[in-house]
Amino acid sequence: MRRRILFGLGAAAILASGPASLLAQTAAPAPFSKPPYPKPQDTEVWTPVPPVVTPGAVDAAPPSDAVVLFDGSNLDQWVNTRDKAPAGWTVGGGVLTVAKAAGNIETKRKFRNYQLHLEWRVPADVTGSGQSRGNSGVFLASTGAGDAGYELQILDSYNNPTYVNGQAASLYKQAAPLVNAARKPGDWQSYDVVWTAPVFAADGKLTAPARVTAFHNGVLVQNDVVLTGETLYIGKPFYRPYTTAPIKLQAHGDPSPPLSFRNIWVRDLPAAP
Ligand code: MG
Repeated sequence: MRRRILFGLGAAAILASGPASLLAQTAAPAPFSKPPYPKPQDTEVWTPVPPVVTPGAVDAAPPSDAVVLFDGSNLDQWVNTRDKAPAGWTVGGGVLTVAKAAGNIETKRKFRNYQLHLEWRVPADVTGSGQSRGNSGVFLASTGAGDAGYELQILDSYNNPTYVNGQAASLYKQAAPLVNAARKPGDWQSYDVVWTAPVFAADGKLTAPARVTAFHNGVLVQNDVVLTGETLYIGKPFYRPYTTAPIKLQAHGDPSPPLSFRNIWVRDLPAAP
């Protein structure tokens, strides 16, 4: 009991002195009372000038420096993950629809750090429940065959309970979304993602983990989340070294009707400082 009282007093003392001492440490330097007098210009930065980018007509449209991965017309930017043959999904009416038998597809291009926009739609007549209802996913880096990589989950999460770190907008089995911003089946939904790739030393050792910020239908769902490795169905995440990787879309094996995608674009970003 005595120990607890002493601890309580100590904690109170720290609380009482903490903010004041912090203020003392961060107090402004001496006032501008003697020369040389600082000028406003001292803290202005004029170069390098950020490049001009023309935004799309609406926020969902690709800006001028985007790589368009799917504009509704063809799958020229994509291949099957399994054999790198032309992507075997279906394009029609400006929309890309999963062909589950064809397996996952991935971009021909490889990326490191980027901003991604993509739109997806669970069919209005979706069936099933849990993970077997409108399951797909976007792998922010595809590091190998099948589902290897880092999956931002796509699922019908409109009144469809499942494990929360596997619902829509989760980083699969690593981070549940901050909120459930799902729209109902039949409605188009969007993801906007900032992917900061993991960094590996020459010997393959991890020097900086992967980070993800994501918005679902414009709502923040992942806020600079640090990943502990690739997203795995079974077992503990781990990292495998890579430098650049394709972006991959999942053909999930559940029997529910397939999802569709549209308006997919990406902007390369410089390495994190
Ligand atoms: Mg999935």
